[in-house]
Amino acid sequence: MATLDVDVIVVGGGVAGAACAALLAGQQRRVALVDARRANFQPPAQGFDPRVVAVSPGSRRVLAAAGGWQGLDRGRLAAYHHMAVHSAALGVSFRASEHGLDELGWIAEIPALQTALWQALEGNDRVRLFAPAAWKRIDLGRDVVRLGLDDGTQLRAALLVAADGARSQLRQRAGIRVDEWHYNQKALIGPVRTAEDNTGLAWQRFTEHGPLALLPLPDGRSSIVWSQPADRAAQLHTMDESDFVAEINRHQDAPLGEVLEVGELHLLPLVRRRARQLVRDRLVLLGDAARSVHPLAGQGLNLGLMDAAALAEVLENWKDADPGPALKHYQRWRLSNGALISGGIHAINELVRAPAGLGRHALGMGFGLARQLWPVREAFVQRACGLDSDSPRLARGRSPA
Ligand SMILES: Cc1cc2nc3c(=O)[nH]c(=O)nc-3n(C[C@H](O)[C@H](O)[C@H](O)COP(=O)(O)OP(=O)(O)OC[C@H]3O[C@@H](n4cnc5c(N)ncnc54)[C@H](O)[C@@H]3O)c2cc1C
Repeated sequence: MATLDVDVIVVGGGVAGAACAALLAGQQRRVALVDARRANFQPPAQGFDPRVVAVSPGSRRVLAAAGGWQGLDRGRLAAYHHMAVHSAALGVSFRASEHGLDELGWIAEIPALQTALWQALEGNDRVRLFAPAAWKRIDLGRDVVRLGLDDGTQLRAALLVAADGARSQLRQRAGIRVDEWHYNQKALIGPVRTAEDNTGLAWQRFTEHGPLALLPLPDGRSSIVWSQPADRAAQLHTMDESDFVAEINRHQDAPLGEVLEVGELHLLPLVRRRARQLVRDRLVLLGDAARSVHPLAGQGLNLGLMDAAALAEVLENWKDADPGPALKHYQRWRLSNGALISGGIHAINELVRAPAGLGRHALGMGFGLARQLWPVREAFVQRACGLDSDSPRLARGRSPA
């Protein structure tokens, strides 16, 4: 079979990879996107997909530039304007209006985001989609990458983006080492109904068992993310609804009243991973393939979208020349940004697991202090929203240089 020449091959069309493919195609590059599955979200008639994420304002700009925000069903998005986080007796809260923002973020279903991006890619004549497809052979040269797919297609490109998720096979194939921390924690996720409708509050408490978050859903319910020791999470998962309701109400004091009902719950294992390099010759890691983080700060997908925007930014002026210097820039930028955010999240998770609740008290004192210090709160909001000076220009709403 003849070889198809493109500028960039992206393997992995999750939200991070699909956004990256769209942004690079927007620079007039020919892009091949390969995924083991075709994105095709069928919204459940009742309720929402349990895989929901908090999307920051900076990430929304990246999704919009990639063509994946416009097509979303607004009835399946829940904006939040108020964020509150507590540990022990103290907490801190943030309101969008106090920081000059209309929203602090949106809760969205991952498969809906992914499908909206794919729909935009389907109408883009610079993008070739290969899905369902798997790569069988790979030749990672210093200047060129060749990828053989299972249907016999041969792809050749100057750049290969590995966006194939936390257990990236391409990362492994390139021999990039990964640091892993198995938290022995699992996250329980699913919808709950509270006495009052949740109309825009993202709330979190560091309970004695782990962080418990309530995030708004468009129908007034909340989606919970409760990370806790794996055996306890498994036990809660098998509880009767009334016992679970009693248990969650012992730990949550959100200003939404008691939890009254619980929908179907799912359990997800939590592992932190960090690739030691993001670039090897012409291969670049992006999204969860680059690092995966504990969900307590709702940053994993946001980091992946910032990777996509950062890669597009450093490649802006790349034509036929060696992309090596641009890729080195990407690696330095995203490794240091990722280390700061993922390291901070990891440190908080370790702190709150300290014996006798000491860590939770210390964290609560930190929140109490932050409440008094406006510059700290402002800096926190800018970073959490993907609007700080270390975020790509696209996320900050700046046009290309
Ligand atoms: C409980 C929980 C809550 C979370 N909450 C948040 C949140 O609030 N906010 C947030 O930003 N993040 C959150 N995250 C993290 C977020 O879900 C992930 O960071 C994000 O979904 C990863 O996206 P990705 O595109 O990098 O990878 P993935 O979504 O894993 O996509 C990888 C793609 O690669 C494809 N693929 C894999 N292998 C191959 C192969 N060999 N060949 C071809 N294709 C392949 C897959 O089919 C898939 O489409 C949360 C995570 C958890 C566990």
